[in-house]
Amino acid sequence: MRQGLGEDLIARVLGGAPKYTLAELEQKFPLRDLPDGAFVTRFAPSPTGFMHLGGLYGALIDCKLARQSGGVFMLRIEDTDTKREVASAVDIIIDSMHRFGLEYNNDEKYGPYYQSQRKDIYHSVAAELLRRGLAYPCFLTASEMEEIRARQTSAGFATGIYGEFARDREISDDEIRARLDSGQTPTIRLYSMGDTTRRIFVKDAVRGSIGFPENNEDIVLIKSNDGLPTYHFAHLCDDHFMRTTHVVRGEEWLPSLPLHAQLFRMMEWTPPLYIHTATIDKIDVDSGKQRKLSKRKDPEANVAYFLSDGWPTGAVLEYLFNIAASGYEEAKNKGVVKSVWDYEMRAKKIPMSGALFDMRKMEWWAREYIGALSVPDLVSSVINWANEFGDDVNKMQVSDEKYLTDILSIERDNPKRVRKDFITWKQTLNEISYFWDALFAPNTEYEFNRDVLREFLTTYDANDDKDTWWNKIVSIAEKFGIKNGDVAMNLRVAMTGRTNTPDLYSIMRVMGDARVRNRINMVM
Ligand code: GLU
Repeated sequence: MRQGLGEDLIARVLGGAPKYTLAELEQKFPLRDLPDGAFVTRFAPSPTGFMHLGGLYGALIDCKLARQSGGVFMLRIEDTDTKREVASAVDIIIDSMHRFGLEYNNDEKYGPYYQSQRKDIYHSVAAELLRRGLAYPCFLTASEMEEIRARQTSAGFATGIYGEFARDREISDDEIRARLDSGQTPTIRLYSMGDTTRRIFVKDAVRGSIGFPENNEDIVLIKSNDGLPTYHFAHLCDDHFMRTTHVVRGEEWLPSLPLHAQLFRMMEWTPPLYIHTATIDKIDVDSGKQRKLSKRKDPEANVAYFLSDGWPTGAVLEYLFNIAASGYEEAKNKGVVKSVWDYEMRAKKIPMSGALFDMRKMEWWAREYIGALSVPDLVSSVINWANEFGDDVNKMQVSDEKYLTDILSIERDNPKRVRKDFITWKQTLNEISYFWDALFAPNTEYEFNRDVLREFLTTYDANDDKDTWWNKIVSIAEKFGIKNGDVAMNLRVAMTGRTNTPDLYSIMRVMGDARVRNRINMVM
């Protein structure tokens, strides 16, 4: 601890007198009145213009833990890095949250929820630390810090501003005044009393108690260029005053844990319980090895990819959820639960490593998900996707809703035997493209038995029920001395160009008399 600063200097180094006392802040943001065991969580993305799949994974865990416990889930925008900011980046985050059904509840009482609008709070807490001698203004310039770093490196010391290298730790009031008078703006640094030879223990809900060497760095709390806090200081102030009970965040924050524990201890605030989640991995197609999902190499690292490519958001959510709560798949298969929202997840069981997101497995979840949809839900999902993300062909395909509904109703009447060939809305439209004459090209490779097709035309009646239709096929087969299946195959390829399709009778019913005759005539 050092000599604390007086109010006049505090106001000068912070660029204004602090607005609140700590007691006022405690009162302004009271403890939440929630049932025992309720989780208060927050998704706290930095608006970079890119929503990472790992971010969605964390947000889902946050949302789910809060919802299932009768707690509160918040969205906090961590926009303190003004250099990295991208216009509309926040819209991308909010839009993704809505589309994936991760509804947050930003109660005004605990706001604002943009860190850039919480300066008064950070400055008020920083003022208290300056008052108590637990922080100090530091006037080191970038080049001075560079010089310190070079000295540390050549001497084989750890780099950073700590101990003897923290030049301004004991800076006098007079020097502070002189530097301020000469126009310098300080950063506010922590006066660290940590000692790296001692250990500090912190609890992680998944990993249990973890021991770390104490932090001895005088880390920056408030930046000099814009007066905004660093992540560490914002985390301390926000998660305390927003009354967060559980901080779900990526494992890349584990090394900062001793610092965060130190900050909470220094304030005598109860820290939240941490849940550090594993980074999302994939199986590399070339090497077959598991590796981190890469923003640069993997389209699926970007949540936007799943939207534009028409993956059912519900299926993506289920797969991500199953990574966090691996018992979900079995419970769902057994029919015990219907959706992620019915399955009780356990914070303790969230994996600490090896969170694998494999696109082939994603396909499985998508097939199952679409297979379980009702026809109206399937139809509206396909239409909405096509109108928003589809090309002109897709838009044409959804323009006749009745025809689309008839097509998508095929093989959906028996819930036990629902077709599983649809994966995405885009691929669904592609899969059924042969129903549209403009998108259909007759198969030129298949050797049609034209006598069979001619015979079929003479007996065909579009109003035949399935048995009558089949009996006609059987008689044609008998007449030509071939198998029933061969007759059907000739018709199937003539109708669709393909040898493998859903129920042929249904296809012909949906196509209707004129189209069926026309398709046969096209290959005669
Ligand atoms: N803005 C931080 C990040 O995007 C938030 C980490 C946290 O949840 O505390 O990594």
